[in-house]
Amino acid sequence: MSFGGEVLEGTGTPHIEAHIHLEIMRRNSSVTCTVHSHAQAAVAFAALGTPLLPLSHDGALFGGDDVPRFTDTGALVSTSALGVALAETLGDAPAALLPKHGLVAAGDSVHAAVMHAVLLERACRAQLTAMAAGPVRVFSDRAEAQFKRQQCWSDGQLRAGWEYLVRSAER
Ligand SMILES: [Zn+2]
Repeated sequence: MSFGGEVLEGTGTPHIEAHIHLEIMRRNSSVTCTVHSHAQAAVAFAALGTPLLPLSHDGALFGGDDVPRFTDTGALVSTSALGVALAETLGDAPAALLPKHGLVAAGDSVHAAVMHAVLLERACRAQLTAMAAGPVRVFSDRAEAQFKRQQCWSDGQLRAGWEYLVRSAER
C-alpha cells in the first residue's frame, strides 16, 4: 500500500484500520513494524482513566512516564486524518492506549514492536490486578523506571522475549 492507502501490489483488500500502520510508519521512518490489537486488559485499564505506573518490569517500558492515550475517537481508526492524529499521539513512545478500543505499538524490528505491545498489555494487567486488591502504594520512582527501561528492555532482552513467544506458539 502507499501511505495514502492505495493498493500497489497484490489482490487483498486493505483492513479498515490500515491507516494506523501507514501513518505511524509515515511519521517515523525508523519504525519498521507496528502492532494494533484490542487486547482486553489494555481496554479495561484504559477505561479507568488512571496513570500507568511502573510497578513491574513491564510497566517500566515507559521509563516513568504515563502511556500516551489517543482520545480523538473510540471508534475504528478508519481515515488517514485519524491515523495522523494517532501517530502524533504515539510520538516516539513504544506504545499507546486507545481508550474504548485497544492499543498500538511500534518498533524498529518485529520483535521490538510485538514486545512493546505485549509489555503494555501485561503492565495493564498487573496494575488492574493490584488495583483490584487495594490502593497501589509501591512502584518505581522516575529514576529507577528509566534505569529499568534500559536494563530490562534493551534490544537483546526484547529479542529474547520475542523468541520465547515464538517457541511457545510452536509447541
Ligand atoms: Zn482496532
